[in-house]
Amino acid sequence: AAAKIPRGASSVVAAARRLPVGVRKPSLRVVVTGGAGFVGSHLVDKLLARGDSVIVVDNFFTGRKENVAHHLSNPRFELIRHDVVEPILLEVDQIYHLACPASPVHYKFNPIKTIKTNVMGTLNMLGLAKRVGARFLLTSTSEVYGDPLEHPQKESYWGHVNPIGVRSCYDEGKRTAETLTMDYHRGAGVEVRIARIFNTYGPRMCLDDGRVVSNFVAQTLRKQPMTVYGDGKQTRSFQYVSDLVDGLVTLMESEHIGPFNLGNPGEFTMLELAQVVKETIDLSARVEFKPNTADDPHMRKPDISKAKSLLHWEPKISLKQGLPRMVSDFQRRIADEK
Ligand code: NAD
Ligand code: UDP
Ligand code: UDP
Repeated sequence: AAAKIPRGASSVVAAARRLPVGVRKPSLRVVVTGGAGFVGSHLVDKLLARGDSVIVVDNFFTGRKENVAHHLSNPRFELIRHDVVEPILLEVDQIYHLACPASPVHYKFNPIKTIKTNVMGTLNMLGLAKRVGARFLLTSTSEVYGDPLEHPQKESYWGHVNPIGVRSCYDEGKRTAETLTMDYHRGAGVEVRIARIFNTYGPRMCLDDGRVVSNFVAQTLRKQPMTVYGDGKQTRSFQYVSDLVDGLVTLMESEHIGPFNLGNPGEFTMLELAQVVKETIDLSARVEFKPNTADDPHMRKPDISKAKSLLHWEPKISLKQGLPRMVSDFQRRIADEK
């Protein structure tokens, strides 16, 4: 029934789909919400490099103009300071919806704003997608699995999430964003894609963003001890940002809705991560134990067989290969602080 609902199907996208194999698609008009942030800015680089016109919509809560400053003179690039909690009118073919603080320190800073961003922000972007017939991609998160009782996590797992805890504004916010996305798909015929992103690191992360990889790297470069929360035996699986961006674009261009786990299955305890950072930056680096935060998931590792078989995507860069690329960016930025 959804297919029968008339929509203002974007002529550019429709034309692109009718092209014979081997003929290059015409360039698209793409909006990236949260495009001045860490992941968004790398995505913008890739979209502009392939010839698309890109509009970044960002309120600069955790994003920075510097992340996209190298595109300001590009006529195919536009930067709009706007909060996605408010409606906006744009004419585009695709919407990559990333706007939302991602680090626990940032999303807990103003939890009401975080859940508004996830619910009202996603609703507005879906309303926009519906009005102009654009394809919409949601960057959801592995946090929808909560403190998982299934390991590794498959997309079919419904999760184990505390609805009233300090992380709920983010976890439940993203779960609601997924629900809205599927309801606009089923109820209004919007073409949607859902990515569930696992912990990602790389250049341009905020230096004091509070996430574990950025903390350990910045602390070691500043000759401070790495702060390990709890006993350091909890696990995470770390993905390099270029692998994620490849996955997001592959998913957007595919015929599959998802959700898809996008992450690197290489799993590390926080103590193992500290060891890799030490070997990469400074063998004399030390760790310091700190009390853990509430509701911290004990383990997390993606099962990526769905993305491998349907999208033919898998990450290529291991932690040992990716970390040095982030370290050189952090080194330069920490030197600039002085
Ligand atoms: P980030 O904090 O660097 O980027 C988020 C961007 O969204 C920032 O530029 C921020 O200013 C902007 N933003 C926040 N609230 C906004 C609002 N109300 N209106 C407009 N802009 C707003 O985080 P990131 O790591 O780049 O994450 C990007 C997306 O990927 C987020 O949706 C996040 O939930 C998701 N994600 C990231 C990870 C990861 O490990 N990096 C993991 C899972 C999911
Ligand atoms: N919206 C928007 N830009 C648009 C179209 C809609 O920001 O181009 C917002 C709109 O203001 C509303 C939300 O998206 O708050 C959902 O729109 P929809 O048309 O689905 O719902 P309605 O406006 O009928 O409640
Ligand atoms: N962590 C840590 N030291 C830090 C920051 C985080 O040991 O300085 C731990 C945190 O307790 C969690 C893991 O690292 O178990 C990942 O935390 P992060 O905030 O990076 O992301 P999350 O996966 O919790 O969203």
